[in-house]
Amino acid sequence: MNVYDSARMAELLAPLGYEASDSPDNADLVLFNTCHIRENASEKLYSELGRIKPAKAEARNHGPMVVVAGCVAQAAGEEIFRRAPQVDIILGPQTYHRLPELVSASERTRMTTSRPSKTPGMIDIAFPDEPKFDALPAPKNEGPTAFLSIQEGCDKFCAFCVVPYTRGAEFSRPVASVLAEAKLLVAQGAKDIMLLGQNVNAYHGEAQTGQEWGLGRLIRALADDVEGLERIRYTTSHPRDMDEDLIAAHGEVPALMPFLHLPVQSGDDGVLKAMNRGHSRDDYRLLVEKLRKACPDLVLSSDFIAGHPGENDRAHENTLKLIADIGFAQAFSFKYSPRPGTPAAAHDDQIPEETKNKRLFEIQALLKDQQAAHYAACLGKSYPVLFERKGRYEGQLIGRTPHYFPVHVSAAESLMGQSAMVQIASVGTASLGGVLQHDPQSTSPTDPVHFDSPLATETLQERPSC
Ligand code: SF4
Repeated sequence: MNVYDSARMAELLAPLGYEASDSPDNADLVLFNTCHIRENASEKLYSELGRIKPAKAEARNHGPMVVVAGCVAQAAGEEIFRRAPQVDIILGPQTYHRLPELVSASERTRMTTSRPSKTPGMIDIAFPDEPKFDALPAPKNEGPTAFLSIQEGCDKFCAFCVVPYTRGAEFSRPVASVLAEAKLLVAQGAKDIMLLGQNVNAYHGEAQTGQEWGLGRLIRALADDVEGLERIRYTTSHPRDMDEDLIAAHGEVPALMPFLHLPVQSGDDGVLKAMNRGHSRDDYRLLVEKLRKACPDLVLSSDFIAGHPGENDRAHENTLKLIADIGFAQAFSFKYSPRPGTPAAAHDDQIPEETKNKRLFEIQALLKDQQAAHYAACLGKSYPVLFERKGRYEGQLIGRTPHYFPVHVSAAESLMGQSAMVQIASVGTASLGGVLQHDPQSTSPTDPVHFDSPLATETLQERPSC
């Protein structure tokens, strides 16, 4: 989401004459687009602010203009001016469309004041009524993959999460606006669009008929109406918002890729309740069963938190059991860390760091084995691979299978942005290696394939679906 927002902010500043600089040292304006989801995000911001060239460390209205945007800006607000008086502008994630007017106002102040730091900085961290997306310029995308933000904010209030406080209430973009942006992205060369939202499958955008459409219906419309769109994905979803139509779409819409990021966070009912997730372990299992019935080829990704307040050894074992039972191709796992202002941060039963470390290690070891098994299962099989970028080595391209697995292939640069059938010839810890099929320029299956990570070419006894 922040990558998408950062691109929009760069587009907003272009008409004022700003363009990307290769270093903050050469910049007239330095913009920090911050994320608050990880611990110490604000401390990292202050440390980065201190690294801007020394002239700026002295005062506001002097040296490069400094803007702090994103969720840390939303959460910390005026406190940033107090701790970092060199900051000129603070903007929340729902008000960044106002960046040009604030930057212009700050430029005017600089022209009329001779005393650095004596004028107040500008701040806008409201949750405005007018839709931000209407005020954004048309996106410019390079390459075959693109992000498209369709939903923002969250009403779920999970006990550990700051998103509802920093991004505000759920908002869905109207259907017509999403379709128009998708068509524009495809016209610019995009073939694979990732639909984005903090809680993307809560999407309930208004169609031109006045009806509300869910995500399943939107995906069907994108697949039918956007000519040239080959691949659709979405992230991040909540188990409670996987409705029947969306589940069915996984089996019925060929452009909807067989990869789903579906965070569960814990495999223990007590912890899930403490997290205010609103679903049980068995609800999640049942949901995965339905999804796999609709799309037998589906691979899953998830999020896990180790050591949420109140998690005991038995609860941790339940999480390991759920992981073992479901089998994930990929996952993001973290130690619990308190976010000020969230209910979990005030919980009495915080877990010692040592215990969190041990539990995280066990979770990650299991997930790593599962990822390796998914990769190994691809060996010898062929997949359509969409080439996204150049590899580290001469003549190498990197693309992704429909399951979102990265593949290194020796291929002509003319294939960049195209899909081609690739046979998987070797398996690394973080990627696959393959050879083009039916291409006279390709290496033979016995040629070596360069990896960024050590090869692990053993075939596992049990191969999950890949
Ligand atoms: S559903 Fe996701 S974004 Fe919303 S509160 Fe829970 S973890 Fe945060």
